[in-house]
Amino acid sequence: MMVRTQRKMLLRVASAYKTVSAVALQIITGTIPIDLLVKERAYAHYHRQEETREVKERARDNSLIAWQQRWESETVKPNDECMYCGKGDPAEHTIFKCSRWRENRDSAYQELGRELTPETLVMTMITSDTAWKTTFNMIKTIMSAKEKEEMARQESERREN
Ligand SMILES: [Zn+2]
Repeated sequence: MMVRTQRKMLLRVASAYKTVSAVALQIITGTIPIDLLVKERAYAHYHRQEETREVKERARDNSLIAWQQRWESETVKPNDECMYCGKGDPAEHTIFKCSRWRENRDSAYQELGRELTPETLVMTMITSDTAWKTTFNMIKTIMSAKEKEEMARQESERREN
């Protein structure tokens, strides 16, 4: 329930591609899922006798691992066919594989000094503010460009009919 409400908010905030999963949206907007934040708080409360900073760090580590796992399981679900190359089109294809966005990807990888995969995405993003911004901008740029091109295509199909 909370996740659904948060997702609706994020959809509005990110104005992102409509088939992007909740996990991808949370990564795009840089928000740790609310249910994981709730779990962090519960964890901190349960361990309130211990050193606060350490408990918080441990709770955050748990969240990031759970978040990463969610991202991996969400992104392997196929959607429709990709409008550029006809391959299966989950968010993972668009962000990491589709040849249409190779330039965006390459320039981000150059800035990061490494290539990204769905497995390394979250961990790379949290290494530094710069890494976060670079990755965030790459995903956001690709997703919004794709949304625009898809809308333009739908518009021209409408005109033809
Ligand atoms: Zn493609």
